[in-house]
Amino acid sequence: MKYLHAHHAGNFADVHKHVTLLALLAAMQRKPKGLLYLDTHAGRGTYDLDQPGVTTGEAGDGVLRLMRAVADGSGAAGAAPAEITDYIEAVRSEQRTRGSRQAYPGSPALMLNRLRDVDRALLIEAQQDEFIALRREFERQPRTRLRHGDGFAALASELPPVERRALVLIDPPYEETREDYRRVEAGLQAALQRFETGVLVVWYPIKLGRDAANWRRAVVDCVKPRSVRFSELWRFPLDSRVGLNGSGLAIVNPPYLFDERMRAWLPWLAGVLDPAHAGGCGVLDS
Ligand code: SAM
Repeated sequence: MKYLHAHHAGNFADVHKHVTLLALLAAMQRKPKGLLYLDTHAGRGTYDLDQPGVTTGEAGDGVLRLMRAVADGSGAAGAAPAEITDYIEAVRSEQRTRGSRQAYPGSPALMLNRLRDVDRALLIEAQQDEFIALRREFERQPRTRLRHGDGFAALASELPPVERRALVLIDPPYEETREDYRRVEAGLQAALQRFETGVLVVWYPIKLGRDAANWRRAVVDCVKPRSVRFSELWRFPLDSRVGLNGSGLAIVNPPYLFDERMRAWLPWLAGVLDPAHAGGCGVLDS
C-alpha cells in the first residue's frame, strides 16, 4: 500500500469530510443516549502540516485558506455558518493542545475530542506504521478501542453496537482502482443487514462526472430502502485532468433535517475553497 494520508492532510477534501463529520456527530448527540463512533480507516489520527518531504502543501488550498477566510471575514457570503466555525474551533483546539499552529486533527482526534462519557469509539487502521502512530496517540483514551487490521471486516463483526446507535466513517484510499469501491458496496450491505438504522458516511473521490453519477446510483441500489444523501464539492470542472477534481460524501440514514443544513454550509464552503468558481457543489438524492 503506497497511500499515506499525511501527503493530503488538511486539503479541501479533508475539510469537506471533517466539517460534515463533526456536524453529524453534533446532530446525533442532541439525543442523550450514547453511541459508537466507528472509524474503519482511521489513519494516524493527527498530522503535522509542515513536515519537509512529507507534506505537499495541499492544506494551503484547504484548511489554511478556510482559516484565513474566517479570520479576516473574507468568506464568500459573509459570516461563516455555525458548522464551519465549529470545525475551525476544533482545529484550533488541536493546535492549542499540541502547541503548534501546524497541527491538524485527523478524523480520530476530531471525533474523540467530542465524545461524551456515554459514547465509545473503535478506530481501525491497516498499515503498521500508521497504526503504531495511532496507538501512541490514543491508547490511553477512555472508552476507545484501537485495532490493527481490515476496517471493512468490522462493518460485519462490530455491528450492531450495544448502544443501538452508531456513526460510522468509511474512508478508504481508493488506490487499487475498483477494489475499494467494491468493498464499500459490500460493506454497506453487510452493515445495514445487521444494523439498518446506523448512520454510515462514505468518502469518495470525484474525477469524472459520469463515474461519480454511476457510483451514486450503485450506492442508492445497495442501501435500498434506507435513505441516502450525497454531498459533493468540486474545485475544478468535472472531467478536467488534474487527478482529484472533487470530494464526495454519501450519508446513509442522515439525521432529520441534516440536508437542509448541508445546503446552507456547502455553498459557503465551496465559495471559500474554490475562489475562482471553477467547480461547484451540490446536495443530491442520487
Ligand atoms: N479517516 C482519516 C481522516 O479523515 O483523518 C483518513 C484515512 S486515509 C484516507 C485512509 C487510511 O486507510 C490510510 O491510513 C490507509 O493506510 C488505511 N487503510 C487502507 N486500507 C485499509 C483497510 N482495508 N482497513 C483499514 N485501514 C485501511
